[in-house]
Amino acid sequence: MNSVNIVFIAPPAAGKGTFSKILKEKWGFTHISAGDLLRNVDSSSSVYEEIQEVLRTGALVRGEIIMTLLKEKLLSIDLSKGFILDGFPRNLDQAFAFGDLLKEVNIGVDKAIYLDVDIDTALKRVLGRLSCPKCNRDYNSLTGYHTPKNEGLCDDCHTELVKRSDDNEESFKKRYITYQNETAPVIKFFEDLDILVRLDATKDMCETLKELEKELGLGEIDDNN
Ligand code: AMP
Repeated sequence: MNSVNIVFIAPPAAGKGTFSKILKEKWGFTHISAGDLLRNVDSSSSVYEEIQEVLRTGALVRGEIIMTLLKEKLLSIDLSKGFILDGFPRNLDQAFAFGDLLKEVNIGVDKAIYLDVDIDTALKRVLGRLSCPKCNRDYNSLTGYHTPKNEGLCDDCHTELVKRSDDNEESFKKRYITYQNETAPVIKFFEDLDILVRLDATKDMCETLKELEKELGLGEIDDNN
């Protein structure tokens, strides 16, 4: 496979993380989640408390913080198989700063994938979203996507499943407003660069995945299906 570098632009719970994990496992992409970079900042860091507070409110963390974390990450990992950047850039300032950063580290972005999903579907996904803290497997108790066989327990390692602290209705609504006000303009930014791919992420996940893989030129596509 030729290496493809992609970014995901989407409202909360559109499936950025889920598709990233699948593409990573199936095709060997390196997955960089902006949200995970922030959630994994060590509690001894001088910006730890600031990040926790912003995550609670559903707003965006200061650009300087996310740019520093992202640059460190890009410089420390193998990008030869292509990367997926999930949740970045999230506003126009980040989009412009990203252009400069890419030049600095001498890499490019081939496609910006916009996962389009309506607010009701996204809310349902957020409220049912669970994950295993041990093996990282994702579940959803409300949408039919990987319903745990035993309520609240991981099918694979039987660890108790956890919810993200910002996966509640109040925080979701704030994150959705942040998305509409700040992130939606980034869609036009990538459209103007002629690398935007718009996918309907309300559909069944397998169907959207098939379209995504086709757009990325991955695997054999049977057009009769
Ligand atoms: P996510 O894991 O993508 O749902 O992001 C969770 C939270 O992390 C968001 O609601 C923001 O508070 C923060 N966050 C993620 N990506 C960024 C970013 N690129 N810039 C600023 N804050 C971010």
